[in-house]
Amino acid sequence: MAYPDLEGREAAVHLLPLGATEPHGPHAPLATDTIISVGICRRAADRLLGELDVFVLPPVPYGVTRSGADFPGAVSISEETLRSLVTEIAASFERVVLVNSHLEPEQVWTLRDLRLPLFDITRRERAERLTDEFRAGAGHAGRYETSLVLADRPELVNNERTRELEAKMIDMPAAIRSGQTTFLAMGMDQAYAGAPADASAEEGEQTFQVLTDMLVELIREVAA
Ligand SMILES: [Zn+2]
Repeated sequence: MAYPDLEGREAAVHLLPLGATEPHGPHAPLATDTIISVGICRRAADRLLGELDVFVLPPVPYGVTRSGADFPGAVSISEETLRSLVTEIAASFERVVLVNSHLEPEQVWTLRDLRLPLFDITRRERAERLTDEFRAGAGHAGRYETSLVLADRPELVNNERTRELEAKMIDMPAAIRSGQTTFLAMGMDQAYAGAPADASAEEGEQTFQVLTDMLVELIREVAA
């Protein structure tokens, strides 16, 4: 959009996609979480066309990401910076929904503390509508996330590498609870958990539809 497109238009809700720049296996892009957040936001805005004017803001492609620091490509910001950045962006709009796909605990806690509407898929009532692998806690660059990237940006997934990756069913939340804070300590020696070789664009699109259903529900609540 250019600014004249916004004149005289008051969006009902603005969506702020939040991601990270961090290793997602040897096969998926560093931008995986950002791509997923943007994908959910676009679909939700499209779904609500004619019902609610929903604008998708440019994404925040950096997050609090320390667990992948042993690998090249991780770029972290502090909790304080994330808090300031999101608070200041949100202050420009009457109603903002934060749409986050980077699930490192410090990222999620920082966003929850802001007391803004947050699309948080780690909440039990949302998580239980997602795939088996996600619910098993192995949702980092595995079948779940790789499928989502395949649905939107297939050219960014290295299929040759994906095919050779063995399944690593690591329960990341359980590992974090027991004090393992890095991918390496969790046994993720290639920065992924789950089964990326089983990923497909079809599953990714199905998952996007479920995520979109849930985000649309939240947007309607916020706009009401
Ligand atoms: Zn991710």
